[in-house]
Amino acid sequence: MQEYMVRVRFAPSPTGIPHVGNIRTALFNYFFAKKEGGKFILRIEDTDQARKVAGAQDAIKQSLSWLGISWDEYIVQSEHLDDYKKYAKELVSKGLAKEEDGAVVFITPREGETSWVDKIGNKAIEFENKDIEDFIILKSDGFPTYHLANVVDDNKEGVTHVIRGEDWVSSTPKHILLYKAFGWNIPQFVHVPNILGPDKSKLSKRRGAKSVLDFKKEGFLPEALLNYLMLLGWSPKNDREILSKEEITKEFSLENINVSPAVFDQKKLEWMNGEYIRKLSVSDLKSKIKNQKSKIQFKNEKVLDELILLAQTRMKTLLDFKTLVGPLIQGSKVDLSTEEKKVAEKLKERLSAIEQWSSEAILTALKEIMESEGVKMQTVYKIFTGNESGLPLPQSLEILGKEKTLKLLVQ
Ligand code: GLU
Repeated sequence: MQEYMVRVRFAPSPTGIPHVGNIRTALFNYFFAKKEGGKFILRIEDTDQARKVAGAQDAIKQSLSWLGISWDEYIVQSEHLDDYKKYAKELVSKGLAKEEDGAVVFITPREGETSWVDKIGNKAIEFENKDIEDFIILKSDGFPTYHLANVVDDNKEGVTHVIRGEDWVSSTPKHILLYKAFGWNIPQFVHVPNILGPDKSKLSKRRGAKSVLDFKKEGFLPEALLNYLMLLGWSPKNDREILSKEEITKEFSLENINVSPAVFDQKKLEWMNGEYIRKLSVSDLKSKIKNQKSKIQFKNEKVLDELILLAQTRMKTLLDFKTLVGPLIQGSKVDLSTEEKKVAEKLKERLSAIEQWSSEAILTALKEIMESEGVKMQTVYKIFTGNESGLPLPQSLEILGKEKTLKLLVQ
């Protein structure tokens, strides 16, 4: 039996910071390779010099690395220009391509069809050859076009499955014609449906699709983002949602990729991120919070630990910690009305009288004042924090301690 190993590649063009839709394609490739015990290749398709963007290549690598995705091989197309020239010449000498003004143009057959059975939906996709125009494979500047470079590399790297976005379907017949012209094996094609934005149009950079690194800045955990992205267009048989990388590897199959496009749902991602935040130990969460750029200064580690434990139940992103806890530390930043100032005075008096500082005693005191002054909990929140909601107030104030609590009431 011939030895067969799955080899797949993620082949981004460094034309910008990859958005989450691009990275989802990388993840499908990666998990397919892991599942099959194969290899995952990262190939930078940088032969379109005009569209190259400085920093994009690094951003691609950083995005994958932050998600914990490593590659087995790394190829940069512009380092192999001689290869492409050689193959373009080969087609000219076979009479299958022609030179035109310094460029090399592939001559497509005028008769017959080009088709393949796509792994997504297992359906045959067919193009009439007469509808496929002759196309440039090598430009006059000596750089290959996407079509030639892509096919030459997929063949050279022994790629068995081309897993890419459905936008490339129209390029595939050209690729198949090239494989045939060279007499090479044709890989399996797996054209994955797009991810749509909330407005149901294709997720794209132009329409504000965010990158993995944007989500990092916004306080998302890599494990949560990876898990969420995997569920965009794929679902495991048992329909579970929270899955570790090991579980995804075990469950992943091309057959379970959905035929219809998935819609990016920020709310669901936030929910999932919250679930991952709740799975962290306090010390892990603490170090992640401390690694955030905008942090709150804390002198008392014990108070910090207790506030983390309380905030952990409500956080959706790491940035939420500052939003939830910051006002309790810094106090209300909004101006209080005369009425609210009066309530603050009453609160101060009543809370000062508490001898055993506990959340129960605090709650009783808050309730009494709310009743006697005829105000709602939102007002009490506002007096303490400037916001109308937040962490459970009695518990937070217990953790803060009496002295700090009373200070919050000094305007
Ligand atoms: N360079 C193409 C891209 O930017 C690769 C498409 C493919 O995977 O063949 O997406």
